[in-house]
Amino acid sequence: MTDTPYAADACPGPCNRRYRKTVDAYLAAQVVHGQALADYEEARPVLEAAFKVAMAAYEEAYGWWKHHADAGVLVVREPISPTFPPPPAPPAEPTEDDLAYRKGDPVWCSRDAGLIRGALTALDDLASLLGSWADGHRGSTASQKYGTTGNRANPGSPSPIGDTLDDLYSQLVKCEDDWREYRGYRRRPQRARDSRARRLTLAFLIDELRDILNHPGSVQFGRAVLWWERTLQEMTKTDPVIQRRPARCPNDRCRQRALWTRADGMIECRACGRLMHEHEYQELVDADDGGTDIQEASRP
Ligand SMILES: [Zn+2]
Ligand SMILES: [Zn+2]
Repeated sequence: MTDTPYAADACPGPCNRRYRKTVDAYLAAQVVHGQALADYEEARPVLEAAFKVAMAAYEEAYGWWKHHADAGVLVVREPISPTFPPPPAPPAEPTEDDLAYRKGDPVWCSRDAGLIRGALTALDDLASLLGSWADGHRGSTASQKYGTTGNRANPGSPSPIGDTLDDLYSQLVKCEDDWREYRGYRRRPQRARDSRARRLTLAFLIDELRDILNHPGSVQFGRAVLWWERTLQEMTKTDPVIQRRPARCPNDRCRQRALWTRADGMIECRACGRLMHEHEYQELVDADDGGTDIQEASRP
């Protein structure tokens, strides 16, 4: 493991965010203090010269005041002796409470290991959801059916979603390859770079997750997984074109085009409240031959 200023047995997950912030802030304050101390030492000759002048003025003023005071004439207040400027004070040390942290078992605490597992599991749905818009064909379906426009729904144009998903895939595959090599497993079979390959890599990582997270080298991996979940969630949440799903509600009594993706990745019908997972939605889209639309269009 690389050298960190944090306790070696501290869980590197979100549970210790406050602890790491405290340590970081204290270290930063120490650096600032060190610089201030160096500046102070550098300025010392000037400070000393100024102090000498101030001291001489004080002694003169004091003599004058004393002379009058002894004579019983209290004309001015007693002059105050100048003080030499003290060196900058060191930063306050964090208390024991500030430095309390949750231990890893052995690397991650059980809560954060669970968060990482949940995130890794959610990545495929989130990525499929984004991918379904980036690859253009469902994007164009949405534009036709809803009249929405936008770069991301523009088939054939280079897409930021496509780049993001490509990045995600590269990172996941690198993790899979590294882990296979470390464990002495046979190498990853050659696969096309598509959503199925991503699913297989995710499935491999989820299978191996318990062992991976027990490895001290999993700190970056675990954080990256959490980061990816957050990032993809943000992307699906903030893009209205992505939130809206063009298929019809599968509820026979509803059949409304009111499906949208919630922040948690579930797909909900706004008309009847029906909930679906992304893969159920994809099956729905695959089964949709447009028949309902054709009937509707031919209605008088
Ligand atoms: Zn933790
Ligand atoms: Zn419905």
